[in-house]
Amino acid sequence: MLDRAALKAWFGERCVFGAPAADFTTYRAGGRAEALVSPSTPEELRGLAAWCRAASVPLLVLGRGSNVLVSDRGLPGVTALTERLCRLEIKENSVLAEAGAVWDDLARLSAQAGLSGLEKTSGIPGSVGGAVRMNAGAFGQEACDRLVSVQAFDGAGRTVSLFKKDIRFGYRQAGGLEDLIIVSARFEFPAGDAASLSAERAAVLAARAAKQPLDLPSAGSVFRRPPGDYASRLIDAAGLKGLRIGGAEVSPKHAGFIVNAGGATAADIHALIREVQRRVREKTGVELRLEQILLGEF
Ligand SMILES: Cc1cc2nc3c(=O)[nH]c(=O)nc-3n(C[C@H](O)[C@H](O)[C@H](O)COP(=O)(O)OP(=O)(O)OC[C@H]3O[C@@H](n4cnc5c(N)ncnc54)[C@H](O)[C@@H]3O)c2cc1C
Repeated sequence: MLDRAALKAWFGERCVFGAPAADFTTYRAGGRAEALVSPSTPEELRGLAAWCRAASVPLLVLGRGSNVLVSDRGLPGVTALTERLCRLEIKENSVLAEAGAVWDDLARLSAQAGLSGLEKTSGIPGSVGGAVRMNAGAFGQEACDRLVSVQAFDGAGRTVSLFKKDIRFGYRQAGGLEDLIIVSARFEFPAGDAASLSAERAAVLAARAAKQPLDLPSAGSVFRRPPGDYASRLIDAAGLKGLRIGGAEVSPKHAGFIVNAGGATAADIHALIREVQRRVREKTGVELRLEQILLGEF
């Protein structure tokens, strides 16, 4: 049982009961978090994890909520946002980033400092923790490319330091991080030319704005890339651009995105995901697999 009074006494205004997922996910849809908490330090996050474990209360850690769909039935227990753990320290050719730092700030600051290797990931709207956990990537670069090590803690609250070689990174996956809470990550970069890296960043941001429906809430690409193809190409070829269920729509601008075109419920979005999978399967035989993470009961 969640001891609301104890949690409130501890976190004060940094603890909100019943916050709608619209407030903490980029889909701007879904149910309510029983308790939404924003720890200010890694030690506080660790203490919260220990507190939840001792009380048998489920704990979910989220960054910017840009790769998740929260069920309309909501999230039981504690949802911890890392947004306040947002330190980014550049020292020579290395950056130490706390988990809640905005990934795009890392991409921007490293490019401006003449540190090469993450400029093409500009515009990914996640946190450092979420990007490492998902091995987010774009235009041929991935979160793990310049990664040296990850600091985390495990379910028992023990500190764990992992080097890149300890983590099985692959396409949108990071084997070995599944059960850990990431606190910070360290990156090292080869030197590059700040002006050309910043120009590359600007080109990537322009390409994103041209191709992606950034004016509407979404969680980016819904599906993983099937081998040798693109989910968006298959969905477009199946004639599904603009397909709607309730307030959820297959973006007419980019078939790989489902957008919240206004008042979408998580059930609308989920039903549209299933419908797209069904129609693409029927038409092409390809089974599209979800990249986005479903949270709660569907
Ligand atoms: C417009 C748009 C464009 C996008 N473009 C891209 C793209 O080009 N490439 C790409 O790869 N993705 C893209 N995404 C998806 C998303 O931004 C990335 O997957 C991002 O890395 C998710 O980070 P987050 O902080 O939002 O994670 P969340 O959505 O908050 O969480 C994702 C998962 O990571 C876990 N997690 C988060 N923080 C931690 C932590 N500190 N410790 C342990 N686990 C943690 C969560 O529990 C959850 O399982 C896009 C999304 C949008 C909305």
